[in-house]
Amino acid sequence: MIRIRSVFCLLLALFLMTGIISCRAEEATAVPESRGMDWQENDPWPFVVLNGDRTKHQITISMDDCYEMEWVEKAWELVESYGGHMTFYPLGELLKEEALKPGDREIWQKIAASASEIGTHSHHHRKMTKLTEDNMLLYSKYPQQVTDELLGYHYPLRTLRPPYGSNNAALQRVLKKAGYHHVIRWDVDSTDPEEVLRKTQNGSILLFHAREKDYRCLEAILPVLAEEGYEMVTVSTLLSLPPLEENTQMFNWREFKKSLGY
Ligand SMILES: [Zn+2]
Repeated sequence: MIRIRSVFCLLLALFLMTGIISCRAEEATAVPESRGMDWQENDPWPFVVLNGDRTKHQITISMDDCYEMEWVEKAWELVESYGGHMTFYPLGELLKEEALKPGDREIWQKIAASASEIGTHSHHHRKMTKLTEDNMLLYSKYPQQVTDELLGYHYPLRTLRPPYGSNNAALQRVLKKAGYHHVIRWDVDSTDPEEVLRKTQNGSILLFHAREKDYRCLEAILPVLAEEGYEMVTVSTLLSLPPLEENTQMFNWREFKKSLGY
């Protein structure tokens, strides 16, 4: 009887250990490389990412909204001065001709021409999951036309960060159709330098906004992160997105919509 019980215990222990090992293995490979575009609704791999590869000593410094261009430019200059590159998620409506202030276009042109990256935060600051599927497509894809008009050439927006980080399966389906690689969220969201430094680890995506207090936080953390040897890369690099296909054609929202059969 005792023998049967000990055999049972041994089997149970083995069963539990296998479970733990397989969970660990899953954790270690939790970030898929370039799984955005071939994402399926039932895919165990996420279309939404909170962070990059935890085994690489790389992080992404991202900045949302971009209402105050003064802080966009200062943050970009600061990060680049440490040899890093940023990823910006401006709202499409702020990049429209009528919303631009003198000098704004030049700042975006400088950023686009640098090794930093521009994505989109969608057109308006609305919760995308509350939109109809037609408007999900419009608000996620129209910023591509606005960005091309702003810069004067086709600049592909590869990733999107929905306002409030909201997402659901319907949105992910639409975004995939719109050609986006991944919904980008974050795993570090604070303007307290100590908290940011405590939470930042390999693969972290840091969220900031174009404001003075965020800039002051960057001033405090960048020397430390540089000292710790973190490579500050764009989100496309962090996620190892495949190289872009050569396409110089300006994006046209109406034609795109027609091509999808709308
Ligand atoms: Zn926002």
